[in-house]
Amino acid sequence: MKNDTRTYRTTYLAAIIVCLCFLIGGILFVMILAGRSEEDNRRYLQDAAKQNQVTLLKQVQGDFQTLDGIAACIGSSGEEQQVQLRGALKTINEKNTFLRMGYVSSDGIADLYDISGITLKDVDLSESDFFLRAMAGERVITGALIDMVSNEYINYLTVPVYQGESVIGVLCAVNASSVYREIIDAPVLNGKGYTNIVDQEGNLVIRTLNLSGDPIRLSEMGVFEDGQLDQAMALLSGETGGQFLYKTEGVQQLAIAEPLGINGWSVISVVPRRILWENYGLTIGGVALIIVGAFAIFLFLLYRQGRIMSKSNAALLHQAYDDPLTGCRSFQKLLLDAEPLTSQKGEKKWAFWYCDLKKFKYFNDLLGYQTGDRVLQALARLLSEDEIPDALFCRVSADNFAGIRPYQDKSELEQWFRTLPVRLYETEPAAASSRMRVELCMGFFCPEADDDSLSLTESINRANMAQKTVKGQTGSRCGFFTRQIREKILSDAEIETRAWAALENGEFVLYMQPKVSIQNGGRIVGAEALSRWISPDRGMISPGDFIPLFEQSGFIVKLDRYNFELACRWMRSYLDAGNPPLNVAVNVSRLALLQDHFVEDYTAIKNRYRIPDRALELEFTESVVLDDDGVFLDTVVQLQKNGFICSLDDFGSGYSSLNLLKNLPIDVLKLDILFFRQGTDVTRERLVISHVLAMARDLNIRTIAEGVEEEDQVAFLRRAGCDVVQGYVFYKPMSLADFNQLAAAGLDLNLP
Ligand code: C2E
Ligand code: MG
Ligand code: MG
Repeated sequence: MKNDTRTYRTTYLAAIIVCLCFLIGGILFVMILAGRSEEDNRRYLQDAAKQNQVTLLKQVQGDFQTLDGIAACIGSSGEEQQVQLRGALKTINEKNTFLRMGYVSSDGIADLYDISGITLKDVDLSESDFFLRAMAGERVITGALIDMVSNEYINYLTVPVYQGESVIGVLCAVNASSVYREIIDAPVLNGKGYTNIVDQEGNLVIRTLNLSGDPIRLSEMGVFEDGQLDQAMALLSGETGGQFLYKTEGVQQLAIAEPLGINGWSVISVVPRRILWENYGLTIGGVALIIVGAFAIFLFLLYRQGRIMSKSNAALLHQAYDDPLTGCRSFQKLLLDAEPLTSQKGEKKWAFWYCDLKKFKYFNDLLGYQTGDRVLQALARLLSEDEIPDALFCRVSADNFAGIRPYQDKSELEQWFRTLPVRLYETEPAAASSRMRVELCMGFFCPEADDDSLSLTESINRANMAQKTVKGQTGSRCGFFTRQIREKILSDAEIETRAWAALENGEFVLYMQPKVSIQNGGRIVGAEALSRWISPDRGMISPGDFIPLFEQSGFIVKLDRYNFELACRWMRSYLDAGNPPLNVAVNVSRLALLQDHFVEDYTAIKNRYRIPDRALELEFTESVVLDDDGVFLDTVVQLQKNGFICSLDDFGSGYSSLNLLKNLPIDVLKLDILFFRQGTDVTRERLVISHVLAMARDLNIRTIAEGVEEEDQVAFLRRAGCDVVQGYVFYKPMSLADFNQLAAAGLDLNLP
């Protein structure tokens, strides 16, 4: 669950990061687009300024060229001609577009011929700056001046008239300022911008009509903030031009200054700065809209996905955390809920419990699954009615329940357990059916100081172990996890870890328990090879302590094969000593049957030691048969073909099935009569045994009774037709050395 939450959190975080990247990317894109738009428009404005500058320059230079041509003519003529030419200026000007034109003699007096035909006689221009500068050899164009005659704005253009090296007079022309203004009035950026001509002092020498108000100077065109005017003025006296900003009526304006190349004037094109964005405005808006739209769709999908996930999560959690049959918690949910309670270091002592319904499988078989389910539901109800706060429980699986309970004293726990079956029979009478009564067995684990590091699962596992120790006892029982169980766990762990080394060190040896034929006087007819672990530290360890562990770990397959080889090796030496073949039975775990090449492997060993056919017997326990009838049956047939005798071990002590005898072509049946001794009625017991023996005989199956401890049992078995007895009544398992001695002494027992 924690993992799931972490995964969802990560997913959402990732999604939010993606969203943010998306948004930042979008904003950057729009900014780049906007930046590019401004850049493009700035360039466009610059081009417009340049264009105006070029056109204006062409106009002015064209005017000067005209004047230069006429001035050259006048200058190069003789005196008389000069007078004539000066007089002819009126006619000449009619062909030009100047408003007025005339020759200014060196004293500054001029006759100016107006295009309207009027001649302005003896105009004194001697004080005029444009006259004086022309006399000094300069070509001059003035800024816009008010014309005394037409009251319109005009510009004077003057060029010197040379005779040889010296200036003899000035040719003067007047142009209506509108000539130049028309050029600068050309629309800039769809008419949103305008152009002016400014001199180096910042005076507007030619002003566009587009300019509102009546500014005379650049500084009056708008509001210049800190340093902006200085920056603009610096551009006017520079050679390369540039841009500057100012505001008119709160609107920021961008101005581009381009030197005109005449009189140190500059062309200044101005446009409101926001106009620069407008061209791309639609695109930027569109892109922004797409980004916002996509973002919204993404968020919506994320939200939908989140809802779907949380719904399916809830369904999954329901599946994972609720037990559908009883409605109580699942084991996972118990772990989750118990964790915060038990991890608190407080006053409370916690007991962990594990409960199993004994032989519930049979109860189900006998009374039906529906009744079984009702019993489980009733038990869950009882447990949930528990009045102790914080007590939690769950159904682990099938008929297993587990939980935690706060407690003061262990007797409290026992007391609580004792009420459970009683209450169960009350609430669900079927649990105490006359055919079979449900019994509970429960294990408790009450942690001690040094158990702090145990996890919840480990603690419940310990309760389960305690439960197993009482499972075999009659009636409803409970038990506690004890020091002995703890030691067994440690010992089991040690056994498992030491197994491989022990095998390599030859710590596993064989013991032989002789089998005695009881029908013909009593002869040792064979022996069962039983494994013993002679540990250097722990002494002899009996198979009951390690075989079940090795069956769990799978190591038993190795050990069985090893023991089988030991048995073959002994048999070889026994035969080599000149003895006739003797039946030796070796146990084979059911796990070995699932191995590939099991039959081939065992046959190869048998052949390697040249053991005659039917001398070796393999004992299989019944559990093998239950697991997989088919494999077992095939294996038995093949083994028999390869010269092995096959026997069924512990018949009667496990899940006996008479049906099995019908199907299996087994050679020998080993009856564990220790099992029968659990009953109290000896007559009935013997009746059953005799019938099993009779049945085996009829099926042509030989019989061995093992676990026989008493003489009268032997007598009974003989009467009942049992062939062979293996039990303490004759011999206990003995070392190979002892068995060799026994064999050397002769195998006849001369039984009565
Ligand atoms: P099992 O194959 O049924 O072997 C018979 C067990 O009964 C032996 O116990 C034997 O000592 C014991 N027994 C024989 N007669 C009597 C008697 O009169 N009274 C009592 N109380 N017990 C008697 P052991 O040697 O402790 O072996 C226990 C089990 O361990 C064996 O039962 C067998 O299932 C398993 N085992 C032993 N050696 C091996 C082995 O090499 N491989 C496998 N897979 N299992 C083995
Ligand atoms: Mg056996
Ligand atoms: Mg046995």
